[in-house]
Amino acid sequence: MKHKAVFLDRDGVINVDNGYLFRIEEIEWVEGAKEAVGYLTKNGYEIFVVTNQSGIARGYYDHEDVHQLHEYMNNEFAKVGGKVTEFYYCPHHPTKGTIPEYSVECECRKPKPGMLLKAIKQYDIDPNRSFLIGDKETDIEAAAAAGVQGYLFTEGGNLLTFVKKILE
Ligand SMILES: [Mg+2]
Repeated sequence: MKHKAVFLDRDGVINVDNGYLFRIEEIEWVEGAKEAVGYLTKNGYEIFVVTNQSGIARGYYDHEDVHQLHEYMNNEFAKVGGKVTEFYYCPHHPTKGTIPEYSVECECRKPKPGMLLKAIKQYDIDPNRSFLIGDKETDIEAAAAAGVQGYLFTEGGNLLTFVKKILE
């Protein structure tokens, strides 16, 4: 049987979106975010983070910074029984980039569904049993384009409470 999955936007869902986060010491966790990842993992969901990181195209940070941050996040999730199967991130920006190779029109930057489609294919995910949580309309659009139900999470709330309501 195909797997069920939850797609999580990162900035504004897992961490408070203070803009172009890449330093581990600057992470400000959204309330209930770690616990939500733990809860979803225990409920049999594959978890994928799908995040636009145009900070790479803009030259603010690089792949290594992003990898280190995501590794740290997964270590934190592990403490509450959570696991992100894979972090997908889009390093591109069509117009604002300063790094030529990433200053391109791509298929992964949300609202395009490229990151979700990649996960669905790589991990044999059933879109119909899966959902996305994002804090922007573009997240919801990306989900819809991949055939996944999207839920808009308004910052300031508790992510675990939000997730439990979805699963009710
Ligand atoms: Mg966001």
